[in-house]
Amino acid sequence: MIPTPVRHRLEDLLGDRIRFDVPMARHTSLRVGGPADAVAAPADRAELGALLGLARECEVPHRILGRGFNVLVRDGGLDGIVVQLTRFRNLGERPGGLLRAESGVSHSQLTRFCVERGLAGLEFGSGIPGTIGGWLAMNAGIGVREAKDVVREVEVMAPSGSGIRHLGRDGLHFGYRALRGLAPGSAILSGLLAVRPSDPALVRDEVDRLLAKRAGSQPLDVPSCGSVFKNPRGDFAGRLIEAAGLKGARVGGAEISRRHANFIVNRGGATARDVLALVERAREAVEAASGIRLETEVRILGRPA
Ligand SMILES: Cc1cc2nc3c(=O)[nH]c(=O)nc-3n(C[C@H](O)[C@H](O)[C@H](O)COP(=O)(O)OP(=O)(O)OC[C@H]3O[C@@H](n4cnc5c(N)ncnc54)[C@H](O)[C@@H]3O)c2cc1C
Repeated sequence: MIPTPVRHRLEDLLGDRIRFDVPMARHTSLRVGGPADAVAAPADRAELGALLGLARECEVPHRILGRGFNVLVRDGGLDGIVVQLTRFRNLGERPGGLLRAESGVSHSQLTRFCVERGLAGLEFGSGIPGTIGGWLAMNAGIGVREAKDVVREVEVMAPSGSGIRHLGRDGLHFGYRALRGLAPGSAILSGLLAVRPSDPALVRDEVDRLLAKRAGSQPLDVPSCGSVFKNPRGDFAGRLIEAAGLKGARVGGAEISRRHANFIVNRGGATARDVLALVERAREAVEAASGIRLETEVRILGRPA
């Protein structure tokens, strides 16, 4: 709960760019999750800095989210302020084969920009839903290509809201679906990405090929959070879950997708509890069958109901 005097100060600062008691089911692609105390979408960097400063002064916790394509919020909801940088949407070319993309740029916006201008190198990210902030924070990718392969610099605001740092490649510690080493609550503001000139038709062909491949293998017509588990070394979580006989397994409104066993889909009315029950069932079944203990890729947040 945010105390009323603090609520008023937050409203004074952000106006209608902050809302209170917001169901996270509205802000996550899996469409489950209890309420956050507040969800804020600051207009610009100055407002973000002031918001983080006020949150610190008033001892209200915050976390930065993108579009919620890789998070599972428990049914009890989230303490404090969820900050979304969805208004940070500048995108432009820089000299030397570079692009600067702000955190709120969506991956589809980035892909369109590259296709229109004939810029190659980022096609592998096409079809990964969400924002550039989420893509950098997750080191998202496909197969062996990940964000880290094309990132030259990440611009980060400190959790206190004061101080912006430009971290070059040496200062960035990417892991499997993770960017490590940033203080919790840091806000990624933008990334500098490497591109190379190409023929727009070639860039478009590669994007179309990857989108068609995705549409053929993933359940894109139902709410999900993408891959639930990380792939263990040398194997695929989806293959292991399928081999354990769990395709189509259901708890409440949650189902292990028949199309891709590493996806849990919301068939309607699922709760986080349903999804987490399936997560545990898959983990236990795979461990019993293969001895491999799967780790979640999806970020699980919040309080149980
Ligand atoms: C159908 C589907 C397919 C998918 N396919 C893929 C795929 O092929 N490859 C892949 O890697 N992922 C995939 N995903 C997962 C997801 O799309 C990516 O992880 C994406 O990058 C998440 O972006 P987001 O903006 O939604 O981030 P969110 O889910 O909102 O956040 C993810 C994490 O990043 C942090 N974060 C987000 N923005 C910021 C910021 N500005 N500053 C600091 N931290 C931040 C959050 O705190 C959170 O920990 C898929 C998901 C779905 C639903």
